[in-house]
Amino acid sequence: MTDHISGEDGELYSSRKKIYPKTVTGFFRTMKWRIMAVTLAVYYLTPWIRWYRGEGQPDQAVLIDLANRRFYFFFIEIWPQEFYFVAGLLVMAGIGLFLVTSVIGRAWCGYFCPQTVWTDLFLHVERFMEGDRNAQIRLDAQPWTAAKLRKRAGKHVIWLIIALLTGGAWVFYFADAPTLLGRLLRFDAPFVAYASIAVLTATTYVLGGLMREQVCIYMCPWPRIQGAMLDQNSLTVTYNDWRGEPRGKHRKAAATPLGDCVDCNACVAVCPTGVDIREGQQIGCITCGLCIDACDSVMGKLDLAKGLISYSTLTDYEASKAGAPQQSVMSAILKPRTAIYAAIWGGIGLAMIAALVVRDRLDAGFEHARNPPFVRLANGSIRNSFALKIANMRLEPRVFQVSLSDLPDGMLTQSNAPTPPGRSIRVQVPANKTHESQIFVTLPKESVRNAGDFTFEVIDIFGTDTVTYDATFFKPE
Ligand code: SF4
Ligand code: SF4
Repeated sequence: MTDHISGEDGELYSSRKKIYPKTVTGFFRTMKWRIMAVTLAVYYLTPWIRWYRGEGQPDQAVLIDLANRRFYFFFIEIWPQEFYFVAGLLVMAGIGLFLVTSVIGRAWCGYFCPQTVWTDLFLHVERFMEGDRNAQIRLDAQPWTAAKLRKRAGKHVIWLIIALLTGGAWVFYFADAPTLLGRLLRFDAPFVAYASIAVLTATTYVLGGLMREQVCIYMCPWPRIQGAMLDQNSLTVTYNDWRGEPRGKHRKAAATPLGDCVDCNACVAVCPTGVDIREGQQIGCITCGLCIDACDSVMGKLDLAKGLISYSTLTDYEASKAGAPQQSVMSAILKPRTAIYAAIWGGIGLAMIAALVVRDRLDAGFEHARNPPFVRLANGSIRNSFALKIANMRLEPRVFQVSLSDLPDGMLTQSNAPTPPGRSIRVQVPANKTHESQIFVTLPKESVRNAGDFTFEVIDIFGTDTVTYDATFFKPE
């Protein structure tokens, strides 16, 4: 793989040469259009999808409710103590990326990465305002005129609007979108919302509009990591030099037979990162396939077979070069590394689905008061105090019974409830809320001597959820 980070003469720094990617049509361009439409639609529209969860509950399908420490994803609510689901999803995303890279190289970089999608969008705006590659080169060389100023200003205004919409859409994931939009427009939204929008607007504008391919080449760690994910059976965009070389513009007039590459530079002109794929695999190549579209179009016009540049594995490249038959495309998929990634990815996915199905919708905690650990009452009985927390993780109100086991003479009372001491107490917890109160466990003095470890039991009196919690009764020495 050629690393073209250094300058032409091998120096460590060379100033950026502006890239003017030319419009191209073809299979991969169409695929990129479709993926761009889907990914942008998902990003911008998701916060506006409604999902009814019951009276008084958030009705936004995807919501990261930081204030109440909940994550809502359609029919799933994740509480802070269930963060392992989010961690599992992140691990799956990482392994999924390894899996995809092992099969089709940098498909993430070429089609799905936000940097690629937004840069592509900004490039289309640039072409819309300033014309295609040649018109942009001419415009850059022109002195400043009213027309040039109008085109440049128009481009930057549209970029800023897209950047603003991008930053704006992000904050809607963290609050009820229609409510927040109203507040933003009335200028009474929280400061953090405006600050987040400002930061994301600026980063989108700078990274997508101004820095573009430099982010992929210089800032992103993934191109360096993905080198370890590829093997000789991974699909990458490949220039088939065995067919293209020796290249030359005038095939018919040439004294010696030339290869199929007519050195038209079309593959370089369309490349969004300015790569000449004929020089081999490079860190700047995001495997978007646009050079394939460009070259196939040239081959079509010359009545030559398409595929001078193609998605190919190193094994197939070597086989073709030697005149041997190519492997099946399944060789890129069916290999031990892919099977291991797929097995890990699937295993984590299945484990998470199983955990989701059987997870408790009730959580309870009893924190023993330590200062003092016990109190001696006027009649000589000993009382221990506990901070009770019951999380009702369902979207309907529920009544829970808290009772004692292994502490035969123990009696329970609640600090703020008028109910007399008993073997159990009842606690009503609103939907999707956590109840907190202080409770007391009291033992008559004649039973204290044998008291020790015991268990709290919490049950949903109209359901099946049950939680037990082991505790210790503190008593005088
Ligand atoms: S587009 Fe094809 S023919 Fe033209 S320079 Fe590139 S590889 Fe050669
Ligand atoms: S060399 Fe081809 S595949 Fe690689 S980034 Fe450029 S156009 Fe895309």
